[in-house]
Amino acid sequence: MKIPKGFHLVVKDKMPMFMCDAINNNPRFLQVFTTRKGGKSLKQYGSLNTGMHTGDDIRSVNSNIRRIENTLGVKYASAANQVHGDRIVMLMPHKSKNTKIMKSRDAVDIKRMLSIDADGIISDIPGIAAGVRLADCAGTVIMDPVKNVTASIHSGWKGVANKIPSKAVKKMKKYFGSNPGDLTAAISPAIGPCCYEVGAEIYNQLQKQAVFSNIFTKKKGRIYMDLWAGVKNLLVAEGLKPENVHVCDICTSCNPEYFYSHRRDKGKTGRQMAIGAVIAAGPQNKERRKL
Ligand SMILES: [Zn+2]
Repeated sequence: MKIPKGFHLVVKDKMPMFMCDAINNNPRFLQVFTTRKGGKSLKQYGSLNTGMHTGDDIRSVNSNIRRIENTLGVKYASAANQVHGDRIVMLMPHKSKNTKIMKSRDAVDIKRMLSIDADGIISDIPGIAAGVRLADCAGTVIMDPVKNVTASIHSGWKGVANKIPSKAVKKMKKYFGSNPGDLTAAISPAIGPCCYEVGAEIYNQLQKQAVFSNIFTKKKGRIYMDLWAGVKNLLVAEGLKPENVHVCDICTSCNPEYFYSHRRDKGKTGRQMAIGAVIAAGPQNKERRKL
């Protein structure tokens, strides 16, 4: 497995994680893509499964999530109930003074996250990470170093078709005043165009749109989709600089040693995570620097 340019494979507490240099070089931010290694789960869930509804022992899953939080020095790695939709929620502390965000129906108390249906989370609370769970879909972590806010987005073909990455940028603009030109994004390992065969209906629906015109390839009568290109195209169309969008283009299906893959494992598998966080100066900050 070749480590993509702009990323490092960092091992801490026996937990290998892919980290994007452009985000992690900023001491106020943290981004990781976890792998399947370094946890407690057994058999097909071995071992760092973070998926709640995968059939794995929930105690192992909770222990794995606590382990990730401790290793990263974050207080809480939030994740919602993902439904392949396009809703993006904003994490709020109990007594936030930001009335604009608090009035939004998408402002969510961190304690309610697990019961919320959403495929994107925005967090500007130091130490409270925005996370998404993945097993083939692309996870995108976006950092705004000027407004000090981060987002994590889950998108498979439906999320790409629904343009959830674009909607995350729009929401960061609306509620946090983000300027897309300031943003840096890292896109996680996902099922690659080598393996992600899709049906003609998906191709017919998307290919005619300019932003998706280059994300399909045809081989021997079959159609393959490039999720990474789909997400990147959407982010660039929304105003991110192409050089600020970093793709960790390792195929989850081709690399069973490191990644869960829903399609390869025929649904019986675990979930890795894409995590982004604003880190407060202090102990967590020092912890991160050691990684
Ligand atoms: Zn592949």
